[in-house]
Amino acid sequence: MFELKERDGLARICRLSTKHGDVETPALMPVINPNKQLVKTEELKALGAEIVITNAYIIKRSYGDLACEKGLHNLLGFDGPIMTDSGTFQSHVYGSVETTNKEIVEYEVRIGSDIGTILDEFVEPDDSYEIAERKVAETIKRAKEAREISGEMLLATPVQGGLHLDLRRKCAVELSDIGDFFPLGGIVPLMENYRFASLVDVAMTARCALPASAPVHFFGAGHPMIFGLACMMGADFFDSASYAKYAADGRYLTSTGTVSFEELDELPCACPVCSSTDARELRELDESARYRQLALHNLHVCFAEIRSVKKAIRNNELRDYVEQRMSAHPQMQNAFPALLRYRDFFERHEPLARKVFFYRNFYSMHRPDVSRFRKRVFERYLAKSRRNVLVIFPNSQAPYFDRWIENAQRVLAITDADFIVDTYFGPLPLELSLLYPPGVSVLPQHPGRDAEALRNAYMLKLAHTHNYRLALYWEGERTLDVLANLCRSTDAHENFELRMLAAICDFQFGVGAGSVLISGNIEIVRSKNTGRIRNVHRNGKHILSMRNDGYFNLKIEGAKLLMEKFGKPALRCIVSREAYEFNARGKNVFAKFVLEMDRNLVPDDEVIVVNEDDEIAGVGRVVLTADECRTFRTGIAVKVREGVHEGN
Ligand SMILES: [Zn+2]
Repeated sequence: MFELKERDGLARICRLSTKHGDVETPALMPVINPNKQLVKTEELKALGAEIVITNAYIIKRSYGDLACEKGLHNLLGFDGPIMTDSGTFQSHVYGSVETTNKEIVEYEVRIGSDIGTILDEFVEPDDSYEIAERKVAETIKRAKEAREISGEMLLATPVQGGLHLDLRRKCAVELSDIGDFFPLGGIVPLMENYRFASLVDVAMTARCALPASAPVHFFGAGHPMIFGLACMMGADFFDSASYAKYAADGRYLTSTGTVSFEELDELPCACPVCSSTDARELRELDESARYRQLALHNLHVCFAEIRSVKKAIRNNELRDYVEQRMSAHPQMQNAFPALLRYRDFFERHEPLARKVFFYRNFYSMHRPDVSRFRKRVFERYLAKSRRNVLVIFPNSQAPYFDRWIENAQRVLAITDADFIVDTYFGPLPLELSLLYPPGVSVLPQHPGRDAEALRNAYMLKLAHTHNYRLALYWEGERTLDVLANLCRSTDAHENFELRMLAAICDFQFGVGAGSVLISGNIEIVRSKNTGRIRNVHRNGKHILSMRNDGYFNLKIEGAKLLMEKFGKPALRCIVSREAYEFNARGKNVFAKFVLEMDRNLVPDDEVIVVNEDDEIAGVGRVVLTADECRTFRTGIAVKVREGVHEGN
């Protein structure tokens, strides 16, 4: 029913199947007023709307049984999926509605809604705990009642709880077993008042508590400035009445805010409306024509933003995109410290690597992939190093390796040592300095005091935790003299390139991987053009290939070595017996055949596909995490690159 196709961290491009066809997410559902179609449904389709939303409560009051006879899709003239709302928002605005949960859900079924919403209880942001608790209990009760009568209709069960996060969590957990579709209820007042930190808390609490495969809908979120941030938190659906509401107020949407149309001299937009007229002409139109043109423009902006967000997800650069978008409104920046509270959850879904790291602002240095990298340097490099001498190269920026390797070799001619570069990414071992993110980073020369403070904090942590007998800050010739006097050694040192390969293996696969993979007779195959490392052979067998991001692709022979070192289920995806042969022929692993997966694996990690007897089927790349495999019953879990029986 809901399948993940592409992802960037928690953000995802999915496909929802309904009775009236499939929808690709993130999707914007324009709100259709059944009594007054400002923009025709054909026009909405042409703009990119695959799904629309309307209000069953208003339809019931205006059309009654007529809508049941005609059917919702005929009534609106839209043959794609239609979601219906229940009147909850009307009760939020007017205090009450003249229907019951049972009545409205039955009505939604009768008119043929694809996704019907229960009549939940709207929790206001300032509701007391007691009131919110009562409303949450009532919402859950009504969801159960609705499930009994919803039939084939997908049931939307809004997650309520106001700003009481434990109630949000409870509501999300209980609804998980009841609903099919999960709007976040009660968030419109937060967005209207630019309470973005609270919005992050509410959205992330629900996202963490709901199953990964649950479609999440930001109910009432129709302003494009919010789309990127919401998708970064795992949002799948938006609905928008704001294109029409804003137009009625004479307001012109942009991807970063809202402008009063009266004050607009130029139309800063390339949509068909704005490129075929100008501000003066638009002002001279009669009111209803102007209203319609403004609404069309607003819709263009909304759909364009959805496309930009999708592009960013497909390119694995959504967080970068959102950091650029946060300048849209000063209050948007309050979202970022709030996001840090959910760093662990983000880290578990962040891809192993991306193409490039652009510094946008201080929060760039707190991205989950950066914090995970920093953590791993301490856990997988510094904590296990057995050398006695550490040389610290001063603060510098990429390319770190090219800048410092010659000096490192001069030190190695005197004594064995580890090398750390003092960077804004924290202490960076020279062996790991080509990896994403530091290896492909672009920062300004002076990233600012906050970034300096962060850098200093991690250098201080290094100073307090390292186990070296001697740690020296690099001062050129002087450092070489000191080392020559103190610890000249004549032992043969390991080749630095082999050290680097082993360090990357430890960093990527876990401590100990380097010593099993990079041992014996190692032969390195390089690109003829660039001289870059391409393949690593051990005792005549191809075990690893190097990716463009500096990490390794695992070959079957390499995987076998890792399996000896790391017991089940580490580094593995365990598939059912029936799927084994299929995967062994090099075919992808589908989620429903996954019995177990290493919980430490993140998207784009290398993974070894095995059966229950730990027989290897192949190697590939993680698409879905362990938790996601459990809840997504459809779609690809692992992209298999090489199967043991391939070609048979
Ligand atoms: Zn426009």
